[in-house]
Amino acid sequence: MSEILRIRDLAIDFNTSEGIVSAVRGVDLKISEGEVLGLVGESGCGKSVTSLAVMGLLPKPEGVLKSGQIIFENKNLTAFREEEWQKIRGNEISMIFQEPMTALNPVLTIGDQLGEVLQVHKGIRLGSKENIDICVENLIKVGIPRPQQVLNEYPHQFSGGMRQRIMIAMALSCDPKLIIADEPTTALDVTIQAQILDLLRELKETMKTSILFITHDLGVIHEMADRVMVMYAGKIVEEGPTKELFANPSHPYTQGLMHSRPGKVKKGDPLYCIPGMVPSGRQQIIGCAFEPRCQYSFRPCKTICPLLEFNEKGHGYACHLSKEGGIANVGKAVNISN
Ligand code: SF4
Repeated sequence: MSEILRIRDLAIDFNTSEGIVSAVRGVDLKISEGEVLGLVGESGCGKSVTSLAVMGLLPKPEGVLKSGQIIFENKNLTAFREEEWQKIRGNEISMIFQEPMTALNPVLTIGDQLGEVLQVHKGIRLGSKENIDICVENLIKVGIPRPQQVLNEYPHQFSGGMRQRIMIAMALSCDPKLIIADEPTTALDVTIQAQILDLLRELKETMKTSILFITHDLGVIHEMADRVMVMYAGKIVEEGPTKELFANPSHPYTQGLMHSRPGKVKKGDPLYCIPGMVPSGRQQIIGCAFEPRCQYSFRPCKTICPLLEFNEKGHGYACHLSKEGGIANVGKAVNISN
């Protein structure tokens, strides 16, 4: 599979009234054609900021791309001017947001919103037969009943699940090569969530679009992703093929996330939660960012930043324990290094 997106050493700061916040601190990432990459982590770890950078939507002027490159189909997006972004955004790369009501315009009909995307990116005139036919076809693809009628209706006339289907139809309008789905099911109830995940899976199979799937929900990642990246405090701390990573979670943070899943405790027992908090982006981080929360911390962790190291299965994690044989060998590791 050829590579469609490559991010190299991406670092993003925000200039705030309280000082500089480092949201992303050196992310490397790649997505191949037709692949679903799951990016997982707690709120505030930099997932959404990374995706906004890929869309050229970092808030200006506070969001500053400090370093790195975003290469999409051999084009360096980080060197793009706004006019160039507009040609790519919504056309070759499109986005599905968490809350469709905030992404859809409440005063325009569904037909106008879907049709406008085709007019702007494909030059197919809004209101023309061709434009309407493609809108109807896209609504059918995402399972919207009576699509002709829906074109004349407004977002508030639909349920959350239906609005998310309409957003997906909009994202598909120009046959994008990459879709960024940022928590697309978080605002929906469980049964609707399952339907939207089924739909995305079906679209992945039929359209072969690459998807960057962002969520804090490991269950969703397990169902959707071919490969997983776990992000913590602006960096990737673990990465691997989904099956392999779920079978052998190796970074203490990933293990903590796995233990925090509701299905992991007996009825009546309290849910496990990782002690402590994600560090604020204002804190200067020396050593491992997870150290204050890590039960396995030992001498090098406070001062040396661990690097991602991969095994032959393409599974890697950034933890000093990897050199000591991993968590299973933790007693030995602590003895050696303390
Ligand atoms: Fe824990 Fe140290 Fe590994 Fe960080 S490097 S996760 S502190 S053991």
